[in-house]
Amino acid sequence: MTSVDQETEKDKQAFWQKLQAFVGKEIGPAQLSPDEVNIPMIRHWCEAIGDNNPIYLDTTAAEASVHGQIVAPPTMLQAWVMAGLKPRVLSGTNPYEDMNQLLFSKQFTSVVATNCEQTYDRYLHPGDRLSMTTTIDAISTEKTTALGTGHFVTTRQDYFDQNNQRVGSMLFRIIRFRPATRKNPSPHVVRPRPATTHDNSWWFDGLQNGKLFVQRCTNCQALRFPPGPVCPSCVSMDWHPVEAVGTGTIHSFVVTHYPQVPGLEYPLPVLLVDLDEGVRMVMNPIDTDIADIAIGKKVDIVLLATDDELTLPFARVHK
Ligand SMILES: [Zn+2]
Repeated sequence: MTSVDQETEKDKQAFWQKLQAFVGKEIGPAQLSPDEVNIPMIRHWCEAIGDNNPIYLDTTAAEASVHGQIVAPPTMLQAWVMAGLKPRVLSGTNPYEDMNQLLFSKQFTSVVATNCEQTYDRYLHPGDRLSMTTTIDAISTEKTTALGTGHFVTTRQDYFDQNNQRVGSMLFRIIRFRPATRKNPSPHVVRPRPATTHDNSWWFDGLQNGKLFVQRCTNCQALRFPPGPVCPSCVSMDWHPVEAVGTGTIHSFVVTHYPQVPGLEYPLPVLLVDLDEGVRMVMNPIDTDIADIAIGKKVDIVLLATDDELTLPFARVHK
């Protein structure tokens, strides 16, 4: 197998050709909306969005409008078919998963959604019952972006009414990309890079310099974590960092088996640790048998470089 560093343009082209086999494939059977288009869901939506257009909820106003009846906000399209708390489980072969596995084989393991476009063919009315099909619409050639190198994957969801007429569609685009190369990977642990912002990068910089910080409000002295610009207790924006001693207690934990993120080792315990200073942090254990993890156990917090530019806290659980 050739390393991805030695890939030629010809290799990349051949790989893209393989990916093209998935374009046009439908992912699973059509999904039927759990409910008809209905007024209660429209009301919740309009309240959440703050949309007071009377054609959505006022029968008299809607009848006097060009629509002649109540219509649903077009942007609710996706909401009608959403699976809610019970995600759809596809049986048998699933071309989307097969496509992902092919992308993972070239280390395109990271994903970020980039854009979404909706098209509406007609307004929906209470009583319409939708179904939706999902199709792999397009896969780009290899592109290099600020995030890394990868392929844009566009899926298309087509929405149909009870007469099988298309009422709208949605293009949803993600990029599957190779995470930045780590020059000197740690033999122990590798972790995905966090999304850093102006408000939290100081905390990660602290770890990189061997210090575990907690934020203290300069006005009311309350400690807080995760880092944020405003004190949740007194809304002051004045704060200073306080170095934590590095000891704590397990408040709770889970041992995750699925879903598995490429690059991490499973089963993966995830701990909620109460620092002795009084704030709570999420971290993975290190040098610890799963059997030794229990609520109330004391931990020492160890800062460990997971690559050249990232250091994270890990919990060494006392025996
Ligand atoms: Zn405060």
